[in-house]
Amino acid sequence: MNQTSKVYVNVLGIASAVGLLFWLIDGYFEFIFFHQNLTFLVLEGPETLMESLVFQVPMHSLFVRLSFVVACVICGFIVAVFLSRRKKTEALLKENEQKFRALIRTIPDLIWLKDQNGIYLACNSRFEHFFGAKEKDIIGKTDYDFLDKDLADSFRKHDAIVMAKGKPSINEEEIIFADDGHREILETIKTAMYSNDGQLAGVLGIGRNITERINLQAQFIQSQKMESVGRLAGGVAHDYNNISSIIMGYTELALEKIEQSDPLYDYLMEIYTASKRSTDITRQLLAFARQQTIAPIVLDLNDTIEKTLKMLCRLIGEDIDIKWFPKAELWPIKIDPSQINQILVNLCVNARDAIANVGKVSFETKNISFDEAYCADHVGFIAGEYVLLAVSDDGSGMSPKTLDKIFEPFFTTKGIGKGTGLGLSTVYGIVKQNNGFINVYSEPEKGTTFKIYLPRHFGDIGLTTHEDDLEIPLSRGELVLLVEDDPSILKLGERILTVLGYNILSTTHPTEAIQLANESPGTIDLLITDVVMPEMNGRELSEQLLSHHPNLKVLFMSGYTANVIAHRGVLEDGVHFISKPFSKKDLAVKAREVLDDTKGYENFSAHQKSLNQGDKETSEDSF
Ligand code: ADP
Ligand code: MG
Repeated sequence: MNQTSKVYVNVLGIASAVGLLFWLIDGYFEFIFFHQNLTFLVLEGPETLMESLVFQVPMHSLFVRLSFVVACVICGFIVAVFLSRRKKTEALLKENEQKFRALIRTIPDLIWLKDQNGIYLACNSRFEHFFGAKEKDIIGKTDYDFLDKDLADSFRKHDAIVMAKGKPSINEEEIIFADDGHREILETIKTAMYSNDGQLAGVLGIGRNITERINLQAQFIQSQKMESVGRLAGGVAHDYNNISSIIMGYTELALEKIEQSDPLYDYLMEIYTASKRSTDITRQLLAFARQQTIAPIVLDLNDTIEKTLKMLCRLIGEDIDIKWFPKAELWPIKIDPSQINQILVNLCVNARDAIANVGKVSFETKNISFDEAYCADHVGFIAGEYVLLAVSDDGSGMSPKTLDKIFEPFFTTKGIGKGTGLGLSTVYGIVKQNNGFINVYSEPEKGTTFKIYLPRHFGDIGLTTHEDDLEIPLSRGELVLLVEDDPSILKLGERILTVLGYNILSTTHPTEAIQLANESPGTIDLLITDVVMPEMNGRELSEQLLSHHPNLKVLFMSGYTANVIAHRGVLEDGVHFISKPFSKKDLAVKAREVLDDTKGYENFSAHQKSLNQGDKETSEDSF
């Protein structure tokens, strides 16, 4: 039975009972009158109580009693209608209140009400959760009970403006929690609140936590900035490389022609050292711009670090204690080992500079994986399996302002002549080029930890090693075809190769190179070609020559990574490459290596196809 029917049954029941009660009372009194022999009043009256109540009710009494019962039932009906309506309204109100409460509870924003004096009247569970207090402990208090005075003052001021204007107002409010000092940013909409009679009653506040959005925005802006700075740096480094090649190469040749006793010898030495230094700077810029050409190999990070540790100890000095915490069974990674050295050296030099007197630097490695859920909650993390390299120091640490800028090239807090501001930008570029990511944790006066995540390598684990040749290898009478569109570099190359004993054919035009090769009486052993040339790129030239001279070996040279021979700066196996600027020794070693490589051509031609395809996908430059 529903609520309304229940009301009807109950009320009508009571009304009928009242009617019947009247009937009984009336009958009873009538009987008493007859019992006392008042028969003169009624000629034919009932003789027993039962007759008076039921069997012998006189007509006039029957009429009166029935009328009363009917009247009672009608009244009962009216009352039942009224009551059931009231019940319905009450139920509706209750339902609405529950819906309203559920709505307020479910809204993912913070909601609160304050009176005109800033005293909290109500708040929702989000608000409770955000401030870590229950509603009962919040109601009756003001912001001054929870927050520091300056912040509470600013909230109070904002509330007052809203009440004075009578219009909603949007604001961004930064809240620093006193207990642990963490910072959250709320976007708030405050509205003046009025009572039913139109009197100002206080302020309704709705707040949304936008901390994560603000952090993501900042990260996005930062990465865009790094990208444009990277493009600029890469472009400058590219042009500068050609000039450095010429200065370094000719100085080297000139140094060989004069005696050490000659007064010009020292001058030339100075030029040579300076050009080497400028080459180092362009290398770092190219690393940052992710245009450093690299030859990655599969390696064990622990082994690579262990080989470098001794050198790092010397670099850091005796006052700083080096701690090494390698985790066993590290996953393999694929990276150019020289880049690991670049990372370690740069981080160590910075740690040394950050430690005033005595301190410690620790290196740690371990395997680590992040899933999508973890990355959704942690800004700056990318899902996947990684090998972590953490470098920590207990030095000066950094302020948040410095931290924002450390990866930008030329940002330094060190004095003139002390810092170049290229260390961390190099590290950043290297990590990005290898599809990893880097996070920094630092606190002033406490220290700094750099965490570098390099992706796990799946596939062959053919660990390779590098050798250091000390001798300058000479020619065995081979014939070299040299193609370079910049005449000064062409001339320099000719001179170096001649000194090394090679026979040379040279040209600035690829088409002329094909002609020279076809007309040459002797077999050409090695093609050394620039990659980016106006008429035809180096790869196209090599392909054309290889179709007629299948035993030809090829060495590419370029100032930066061209996608013609590499994917995102990573050389394919079997492709030989020398980066400009190069020294005489670099070219001698590389030329010999290519000429002595027996399987180079097969590998190279096997990769032509994949490069052709890859080029279409990455025809834009690789940054
Ligand atoms: P440089 O070392 O030439 O200044 P980097 O790019 O290597 O350039 O570093 C940029 C800046 O970052 C430094 O000038 C320094 O302020 C800060 N920095 C880097 N590493 C640390 C560290 N371990 N501790 C404190 N500050 C550091
Ligand atoms: Mg540095």
